[in-house]
Formats: sequence, structure tokens, C-alpha cells
Amino acid sequence: TEQSYIMIKPDGVQRGLVGEIIKRFEQRGYTLRALKLQSVERAQAEKHYADLSSKPFFPALVDYIISGPVVAMVWEGKGVVATGRKIIGATNPLASEPGTIRGDFAIEVGRNVIHGSDTVENAQKEIALWFGESLVD
Ligand code: ATP
Ligand code: MG
Repeated sequence: TEQSYIMIKPDGVQRGLVGEIIKRFEQRGYTLRALKLQSVERAQAEKHYADLSSKPFFPALVDYIISGPVVAMVWEGKGVVATGRKIIGATNPLASEPGTIRGDFAIEVGRNVIHGSDTVENAQKEIALWFGESLVD
């Protein structure tokens, strides 16, 4: 079954949005396969966002992700990668539709509450990076 790596970023954890976010994925019909609260090492954050390493905002992005604990999760179910991205909303919260997580809880691209894998292939890479190969199936 398709899986996605979903991560509540430090601002989402600090603001007490963990339950609300889990509820939205559960209510849609997805299954939680793994979850952990974790402080993030700089090297781990750099690996996770390696594709963005040439962007001007990369150093600030890494500082943001390591600024406090994250909630790392694996969600499973039909179309979870693409539908998870819809549940999350557009990257810039000012462009995110109301009813999406970012559209309901954020206004700044640099503090946009949550990450979701963008392709099935990247989801498998991210699950391996955050949870180890054992969870990949
Ligand atoms: P994520 O990968 O975190 O789910 P995304 O796939 O919607 O987000 P990406 O293009 O992968 O967007 O960017 C990763 C993250 O980098 C964004 O979620 C945001 O926190 C940050 N980011 C993206 N663009 C900008 C920007 N122009 N200025 C500042 N931060 C940015
Ligand atoms: Mg992305």
C-alpha cells in the first residue's frame, strides 16, 4: 500500500497542532503506520531537504527544522502522497486554500507547520531516512 512521510514541523508541535493534524489524516481514512517525536540533527535536516540546497532560503530552512522537536510519521492508504499534499495545502500558506492545514493554520512560507512527501519515490526515500529501511515495504 502507498505510504507518505508526513512531518509536523517545530512550529506545529510548539503551537499544539499535533492532534488536529493527526485527526485530519485519520478522518480522511488514512492509517498511521509509525510516529515519533524527535529532535533533529542539522545533518538530518540537510539530507531531508538536499534537493533545495542551492536555494537562498536553505540555511534558514535548516535552522527552522532544527529549532525544536518534530513529529515524524508514516501514513498509509490509497493515494496518500497526492491526497496528503492536498490536505496540507500549497507551500506558501498565503496561497493555501482554507480547509487545508496550511490554509487554516499558517501565513508564512518559512513557518508552514507541516511537510508531506511530493512523490511516491521520495516518500520511500524519506521514510528510510527518518525511520530506517525496516519500515519500507
Ligand atoms: P515540504 O517539502 O516542507 O512539504 P513543499 O513541498 O510544499 O514543502 P518545497 O519546495 O519542498 O515545498 O520547500 C520545502 C520548504 O522550504 C517549504 O515547506 C518551506 O518551509 C520552505 N520554503 C520553500 N520556498 C521558500 C521560500 N521562497 N522562502 C522561504 N522558505 C521557503
Ligand atoms: Mg517538498
